[in-house]
Amino acid sequence: MAKGERARTVGELRRSGYKVINVKEELRKNLVAKLQRGEQVFPGIIGFDDTVIPQVENAILAGHDLMLLGERGQAKSRLIRRLVDLLDDAIPVIAGCDINDDPYDPVCRR
Ligand SMILES: [Zn+2]
Repeated sequence: MAKGERARTVGELRRSGYKVINVKEELRKNLVAKLQRGEQVFPGIIGFDDTVIPQVENAILAGHDLMLLGERGQAKSRLIRRLVDLLDDAIPVIAGCDINDDPYDPVCRR
């Protein structure tokens, strides 16, 4: 299987070395990669570079649960929407499965 190509069978997926990780691990993995590439993690969030953003980054790196408290207009929603950028573009699922089963641990009969 060529790099960047997606596995079409569970066997191909296993051979690709893919491992299922939870959302916190996924956020952390992609945050680390972004930081290593020197990318801005939360583009469009202005004025929190020395306060909120490093704290959110540290919380993600540490695998903590997050809670954002603040006044109206303090970019809480904007920040939350940017967290999606730290998730993988796609994850493997069983084709045709209504609940997008984990290929390594399917729940439904299909
Ligand atoms: Zn299923």
